[in-house]
Amino acid sequence: MPGLMQDWSLTCNRLLDHAARNHPTREIVSRSVEGPIHRTTYAQMRQRALRLAKRLDAYGVKEGDRVATLAWNTWRHMETWYGLLGIGAIYHTINPRLFPDQIAWIINHAGDRLLFVDLTFLPIVEKIWPQLSTIEQVIVLTDAEHMPETTFPAVAYESWLAEADDDFAWKALDENAAAGMCYTSGTTGNPKGVVYSHRSNVLHAMAAAVPDMLGLAARDRVMPVVPLFHANGWSLAFSCPLSGAGMVMPGPRMDGEAIWELLDSEKVTLTAAVPTVWLALLQYLEKTGKTLPHLERVVIGGSACPRAITKAFETTYDVRVIHAWGMTEMSPLGTACSLKPEVAGLDGEALLDLQEKQGHTPFTVEMKITDDDGVERPWDGRTFGRLKVRGPAVSAAYYKEDSSDLLDPEGYFDTGDVAHIDENGYMQITDRAKDVIKSGGEWISTIDLENLALDHPDVAEAAVIGVAHPKWDERPLLVVVPREGHTPNEADILAYFEGRVAKWWVPNAVIFVEEIPHTATGKIRKTTLREQFADFSFP
Ligand code: ADP
Repeated sequence: MPGLMQDWSLTCNRLLDHAARNHPTREIVSRSVEGPIHRTTYAQMRQRALRLAKRLDAYGVKEGDRVATLAWNTWRHMETWYGLLGIGAIYHTINPRLFPDQIAWIINHAGDRLLFVDLTFLPIVEKIWPQLSTIEQVIVLTDAEHMPETTFPAVAYESWLAEADDDFAWKALDENAAAGMCYTSGTTGNPKGVVYSHRSNVLHAMAAAVPDMLGLAARDRVMPVVPLFHANGWSLAFSCPLSGAGMVMPGPRMDGEAIWELLDSEKVTLTAAVPTVWLALLQYLEKTGKTLPHLERVVIGGSACPRAITKAFETTYDVRVIHAWGMTEMSPLGTACSLKPEVAGLDGEALLDLQEKQGHTPFTVEMKITDDDGVERPWDGRTFGRLKVRGPAVSAAYYKEDSSDLLDPEGYFDTGDVAHIDENGYMQITDRAKDVIKSGGEWISTIDLENLALDHPDVAEAAVIGVAHPKWDERPLLVVVPREGHTPNEADILAYFEGRVAKWWVPNAVIFVEEIPHTATGKIRKTTLREQFADFSFP
């Protein structure tokens, strides 16, 4: 017998409708690409998104068409998403930090018809324009006054938008229709297209907003420093309107000073980004003596959050750290480390121990760990396994790729991460499967070693890779960027590991470098490091 409730499809635009109706004056504040601070509200954003939807419709953009964005976090980028969503077109965010050839490949593979681009990234478009086979029109996210000459067909967004009025209604859509696209950075092979649906975005936003995940509320002012182009913008363009939270968008400036200015002047209560952003902010605070009187919570994910960062936020600045894990294929939230009653009494070092874990799942994610044969391993906080997940906002396939064996027989997606899970359901990533070091048949976690190295007062950044070893197959090599003005030596650093990890985990050697290579999303590029030290032989 069917339930007797209304058929109300879970489409993304309902989130903006909700915010505009119930939180009409809540602000969205942006540092614009042109420079000045810009202020708008959910009610105004909805009107502009309707206007954009009408303009796109008049242009001939149809349901299912892909449209690329190459843009910072600003109100214009966010309203572009909603304008596209409102007519059933698909926002396709592109990471401008990728190599230009990769950007061109991704746009062509997705078959994007239009490209919305910030002024900052016009040189990239200029460079790849001859390679783009599907883009018909470039729309520059600026006004006529700031519109430069271009060598390709381009219009200023504000002028283009002004050609329509806002007398429009969102198209009726199936909640399972595609809504957004984001390519994984693809450290091996070509990038892969992840396709979100309206339903997956809405369910994910609901799951991410609850108190034990991000805990979003209408009284919050949320600053997504994480770009909209990184893993679905961690869903904040959806979960904020859903919660009625105000938003503060950092635009093109993500240095410590610029971030601090907005955190302070806009009284931000919650912010989110990868660890490298927080490292820069903490260095700025240390240098200037500035503090964070308004900030309550900081969400840190994308790569393992070093204990030193958590400690500084928690003890020096009185900001609660929410360590989170996720991936593009998961929309992206997989776990968040909030305190269940079982661990609520922890403090000091014991609390920091817990916060090294990536946390527990929201309702929409089921996880398990297995051995290489797919046999489930216990949740005892010690036993490692391959981390696998399933849920309504987890990928079932990649765009235009044979994905027939992407999921296991129970429908789980293999994350490529190795983790253990404790009795309370707190998961801790010990490595990416391809980074884990196999020494004499046993596994060594590079993340644990990196975390420990970062605790050393002379270490600014650290990476551990496995290097071939005649007796043990592989042994850990520690690569260190020393802190400014410090000159650590190898013996000193290695002594720090003694007594803190099992003897056979202690790295065999330390190499000091000026810089460690990073990926387009700010992670340590271990593939490059492995190539760089492929010929290294331990003394
Ligand atoms: P990209 O590599 O392009 O940034 P993703 O954001 O999808 O793509 O990367 C997801 C991966 O990032 C995860 O599978 C995991 O290896 C890593 N990751 C994300 N968050 C964390 C975290 N908190 N701790 C450790 N690893 C993390």
